[in-house]
Amino acid sequence: MTKEFGLNDIVEMKKSHPCGTNSWKIIRMGADIRIKCEGCAHSVMLPRNEFAKKMKKVIVEADTE
Ligand SMILES: [Zn+2]
Repeated sequence: MTKEFGLNDIVEMKKSHPCGTNSWKIIRMGADIRIKCEGCAHSVMLPRNEFAKKMKKVIVEADTE
C-alpha cells in the first residue's frame, strides 16, 4: 500500500525534529517535498522518494477537493 500525502497535510516522520516536535506540514509538493516543523517553523526539503521513506503517517489530511 502506498502512502498518500498532499499539500498542507500534517505528517509525522519516523524521526522527530531536534526541537522535540514530530509534526510537519507539507508546504510544497513536486519532485522535492518541502515540509515545515510545526514546533519551530524550520523547513526542510527532501526528494519525494526520500520523504516517502522517512514519513511515518499523515496526522491531519488537508481539505483539497
Ligand atoms: Zn522543530
